[in-house]
Amino acid sequence: MSSCLKEVKLPSALLLLAITGLGVIAGLVVWVCLLWRRLAALKSQTNQLAEALDHVHAFVYMKDSERRYIYANRLTLERLGLTTKQLYGTRATDHFQAATAACIDEVDKRVLTYGESSSDQVVYGDDPATALVYLEVKEPFHDPRGRVVGLLGISTDMTEIRRLERELELRSTTDYLTGLANRRFFDERLTLALKHQRRAQGPTALLLLDIDHFKKYNDTYGHSAGDAVLQAVAAALLGAVARTTDFVARVGGEEFAMLLDGTGLQGAQQIAEAARAGVQRCGLLHEKNSAQVVTISIGIAMATPDEDPTHLYQKADRALYAAKESGRNRVCTA
Ligand code: GH3
Ligand code: MG
Ligand code: MG
Repeated sequence: MSSCLKEVKLPSALLLLAITGLGVIAGLVVWVCLLWRRLAALKSQTNQLAEALDHVHAFVYMKDSERRYIYANRLTLERLGLTTKQLYGTRATDHFQAATAACIDEVDKRVLTYGESSSDQVVYGDDPATALVYLEVKEPFHDPRGRVVGLLGISTDMTEIRRLERELELRSTTDYLTGLANRRFFDERLTLALKHQRRAQGPTALLLLDIDHFKKYNDTYGHSAGDAVLQAVAAALLGAVARTTDFVARVGGEEFAMLLDGTGLQGAQQIAEAARAGVQRCGLLHEKNSAQVVTISIGIAMATPDEDPTHLYQKADRALYAAKESGRNRVCTA
């Protein structure tokens, strides 16, 4: 009887086991399927994101906590001339010059060590003509426990924008014909110099210089010849100043100005005389006759301790007028 019972129980236990096993396997299959679908969805999302980042006109990349590249968008790969596989696991030192890599590493370390975001304008290269300027934004990213495990970087090439900014700045401060500073820039420098003088108590001299009978020169030899004279006079004036702080500008049609910061009256008179003689020497300046001499008249004014720019100009202008009245091609002091 008991053996009969055993015979009945054994197959049913096996059956139960088989059913349970099948149930577990079915559950596992469903779970794997769900996981698979989830992974596929994630992969598709990641691919979409990567594709979108490949169209961004900026260098986008990710690095792990050891500063090794784990992702880069197409622009970055193209710039480095690498495939994703070749880039993976490499560091900045593998792709950039030592100084550039050191600069990149320094910011990366800060972001990874302190979990700080960074946003810097970075210049790569010493020569302003060829240096590259980037706006680099770097963000740390974290694991679920809040530890920094890498960074996301976005670098935008600002080189062309910076070049245009510099060109614009240059144009707004420079006289196109002579390359000297223009009136606006000169006034700014004069205002600053007078403020500085108040603090430093040093002398400041203003010279106004005006070409003599220039209208006649223009009328006789033409406007282009006149322009050439303006350029030659500008060069002669630059040749007369010695210090890097001496500032020469074209402040009107045929009017120039010199700001001699830290120069006393005697020094200013010497420079004015050198400028006058220098202009007179370059009497080569036209095609028709050989010896047409160009001359300038100069007015000097020394700034008093509380002088304002307009008043100083007026004083120098009166001195210039006196130089004209007393025969031209000479220097007068206010
Ligand atoms: P003075 O000795 O009294 O200074 O006489 P001037 O003829 O030099 O003075 P005036 O102010 O009467 O003439 C200035 C001339 O400068 C008039 C104008 O034709 C000329 N001029 C102004 N700007 C330019 C320029 O950019 N190019 C040329 N070629 N001539 C200019
Ligand atoms: Mg004039
Ligand atoms: Mg003149």
